[in-house]
Amino acid sequence: MDKMNRRLFLKGGLAGTALGALGLVSKNASASSGFSGYSEGFGVLVDLTRCIGCRTCEAACNKEQQLPEPDKPFDDFSVFDEVHEGGQKRRTSEKAYTIVNKYKVEGHDKPIFRKVQCNHCNEPTCLTSCFVNAYTKTPEGAVTYNSKVCVGCRTCMIACPFYIPAYSYSSVLNPVVKKCIMCYDTRLKFGRPPACAQSCPRETMTFGKRSDLIYQGHQRIRLNPGKYVDHIYGENEVGGTAWMYLSSVPFEDLGFDTTLGNAPIINNVKEFLAIVPMVLTIWPALFAGFHLLATRKNVNNQGHESEKK
Ligand code: SF4
Ligand code: SF4
Ligand code: SF4
Repeated sequence: MDKMNRRLFLKGGLAGTALGALGLVSKNASASSGFSGYSEGFGVLVDLTRCIGCRTCEAACNKEQQLPEPDKPFDDFSVFDEVHEGGQKRRTSEKAYTIVNKYKVEGHDKPIFRKVQCNHCNEPTCLTSCFVNAYTKTPEGAVTYNSKVCVGCRTCMIACPFYIPAYSYSSVLNPVVKKCIMCYDTRLKFGRPPACAQSCPRETMTFGKRSDLIYQGHQRIRLNPGKYVDHIYGENEVGGTAWMYLSSVPFEDLGFDTTLGNAPIINNVKEFLAIVPMVLTIWPALFAGFHLLATRKNVNNQGHESEKK
């Protein structure tokens, strides 16, 4: 899908239209209008003026989530110079739920670093686009994922406005989404800060109630005139996110998408139907069918095997 079509896709919101047409709208999607996250949920405020690009947070995440060894060690800073497909900087992947990228911004002698992970949207498009309800927005603020019900249609990958969900293809029949879960199982559900946030030697990330963080963010902007752009990225974007950012330079200079708007993406559903090819609208259903066939085939094979014994 080219950039333009993806943009239209995001604006249109696949779930409410295509799946609706097929009678497959997720109950999360239909429940989404009027829901604006959990007001008492946790969040993280990332102050990019403090980040020095040490990658300690990447290492902490790798350890906490028991991810594979990285291709390059965490003290190798040549990763900042990597250029990927389409001139892109590094992206999160099935092996790295968070990455830090370096930006050279005009008028600034020193580079600026930006940490990237799932933003744990208040009204997540990954969740609303998923017709088997594999995603959950927990009251604590994390967006978690249930691999047991996922059929591998990859709709969430396209739907996420921040390009976050990645698939692990280690099992072709049962691909699994890999993304930051805000350390939900090991930390967040016990009220503890995520591993990456706790590991940062610069206290770049402040963990707390989302509403308190918004207050603190605005205070920091107000009390330090000229230091910050007068905006908290994520306070309102796409309906608000649990992870939010402060910056000293315009957010677009650091690769943030400042065109997303404040409405949850699932709210805008009309343009999409008129534009996408039909193959996209039946895509999830096709994947569900393949998944079912593959699963049945596996079960049948296993049955035959055990009959032979
Ligand atoms: S640990 Fe903190 S200072 Fe180091 S790269 Fe991560 S956010 Fe930046
Ligand atoms: S950033 Fe993407 S993957 Fe994370 S909650 Fe939002 S839509 Fe879902
Ligand atoms: S919150 Fe947890 S899973 Fe997410 S990037 Fe940080 S350490 Fe990794």
